[in-house]
Amino acid sequence: MTLPLVDRFARVHRDLRVSLTDRCSLRCTYCMPEQGNEWLARQSILTVDEILEIATVAAAAGITTFRLTGGEPLLRTDIVEIVRRLAALESPAGPVEIAMTTNGIRLPEVLPDLVDAGLRRLNISLDTLDRERFRALTRRDRLDDVLAGVRAAQESGLRPLKINAVAMRGVNDDELADLVAFAVAHDAQMRFIEQMPLDAGHTWDRSTMVTREEILEALGRRWHLEPVPGRGGAPAERWRLDGGEHTVGVIASVTAPFCGACDRMRLTADGQLRNCLFSIDEYDLLPVMRADVAPADRASDIDRVLRNCIAGKKAGHAIDDPGFLQPARGMNAIGG
Ligand code: SAM
Ligand code: SF4
Repeated sequence: MTLPLVDRFARVHRDLRVSLTDRCSLRCTYCMPEQGNEWLARQSILTVDEILEIATVAAAAGITTFRLTGGEPLLRTDIVEIVRRLAALESPAGPVEIAMTTNGIRLPEVLPDLVDAGLRRLNISLDTLDRERFRALTRRDRLDDVLAGVRAAQESGLRPLKINAVAMRGVNDDELADLVAFAVAHDAQMRFIEQMPLDAGHTWDRSTMVTREEILEALGRRWHLEPVPGRGGAPAERWRLDGGEHTVGVIASVTAPFCGACDRMRLTADGQLRNCLFSIDEYDLLPVMRADVAPADRASDIDRVLRNCIAGKKAGHAIDDPGFLQPARGMNAIGG
């Protein structure tokens, strides 16, 4: 039996975020530059067969959740095949679970096929309900397409459905309660993310980011917030709204990091394994995938790189350390 992926701090890794592309239909300011992005070379992007080979080894080593992300994962024309083949994998704990984080734009077209292929969990990113703000923030006039995607998700019956927003001062911090009400009306859970230093423009400034405390204060003016216990390794802390069935989540990666319970690792679209969103080091699987070797040898090489990556994982992301260095890749090329 393959041993689980345990790091030096006894964290067992069960979640692999798979970035399928660095390309995107939007250009969110906190993620990508407006122009001049250096795209990953097309020939370096992992094929569906290569993703499957890596995922098969990861599942055998105890990965139970594969979250597909990007860039925009729905831009992959083979997205349904990717979901179908991943969903058939088994980990020692049983069948794996396939989740996706998307900007929602192609959901009306593809969601029925994705659900049929085995997609089980969905997060949609939506930072504002105002068309002009959306256009300024994403540099694309596509709010209506995202809203259609949210409706398709609501109709799909995939639950819990989550809507993610990055809280930003002077951009959407006056809209936080309205976003929660919108999510509740669509039977979804709103989650606010503290903005992280991962923008390609390197413009992040801690003093201007909206904190967990400010988010809770804003929401507390409209609802009574009651903490939901039993967070486990989940990045979001949750609160029940007015004692009802709906909850809101906050992902306080900057002011209340949850590194101690982190069970995630990442695979970029060009085959780099990362043990943290913020790591500077990457563990290159591309030469392993392109080497002319027998499948069994490749599987053991993939397993070795997975374990090297986990062995190199640090205790925390250290955003607050004076020596903190922002990763060279923007969020779109890492996979959020
Ligand atoms: N395109 C898809 C989407 O937007 O959902 C998937 C990829 S996107 C990189 C994944 C998530 O990362 C989104 O929810 C986005 O809001 C979040 N994100 C991107 N840059 C961020 C940053 N600098 N700080 C916090 N969250 C960020
Ligand atoms: Fe695209 Fe998602 Fe980045 Fe926005 S956050 S630019 S939708 S990858």
